[in-house]
Amino acid sequence: MKKLIEGAGKLGIEFSARQVKQFELYYQELIEWNKKINLTAITDYSSVQVKHFLDSLTITLALPEEEVERPDFNIMDIGTGAGFPGVPLKILFPQPRLVLIEPTTKKTAFLHHIIHKLELENVEVLNSRAEEAAHLPLYREQFALVLSRAVALLPTLVELTLPFCQIGGRFIAQKKGESDQEINRAKKAIATLGGKLDHIKKIELREFNDERYLVIIDKIYPTPNKYPRRPGLPRRRPIQEVNRDVE
Ligand code: SAM
Repeated sequence: MKKLIEGAGKLGIEFSARQVKQFELYYQELIEWNKKINLTAITDYSSVQVKHFLDSLTITLALPEEEVERPDFNIMDIGTGAGFPGVPLKILFPQPRLVLIEPTTKKTAFLHHIIHKLELENVEVLNSRAEEAAHLPLYREQFALVLSRAVALLPTLVELTLPFCQIGGRFIAQKKGESDQEINRAKKAIATLGGKLDHIKKIELREFNDERYLVIIDKIYPTPNKYPRRPGLPRRRPIQEVNRDVE
């Protein structure tokens, strides 16, 4: 885990021996399960350390440690797939409650397995689409931090994520490449869902040979009850100035 340890050091993270072992085991299980079910196209040891583990941990750049230590701090990761970015963050911060949402049952089987294998506590796996789970009182407006990586374009994504944020909480989207246009197109959706764009943080790490950003959106008003709309609609007809299909 040399690459991960080195990269994380640049984020101010120092792992315990147990955490390094957990990442090692995560890698092995990911590769083993990937032979049977499609979890990831990134499989070589070095790339997984950087493109999955380290990339997930870049969230810490927008996450003050005091906040994570608050007893009511909790995290939701939407469309987590094989657990990114939620599980690496859980390895780093074992305390806060983490809910992982993933609609593909095979992937949730892996998530249950890896949580057990890594002995992670206070993690819940929800086999559901965000559009459905967001209307359940147990999850709606309950989370201090909502995350989602590589799930949808921002105008769609905010409809899937902001309903889960508490007022005063925030959603952090991980984005690659030129994102200005995407962010501009999401402005209407952000305001409609009760959010406010706080800032965009560029990830300055030599480990990545592309441009990566964190888009940080604060939740300032409640999300109107009608959102998210029924499954599939946020993707087919995203809320934006000119309402057109973007698939
Ligand atoms: N976040 C992971 C990562 O970065 O490696 C997985 C990304 S994968 C490209 C997108 C994931 O989003 C898939 O696992 C898919 O099942 C999930 N997804 C797609 N639509 C969703 C929805 N409406 N609600 C929740 N998850 C969804």
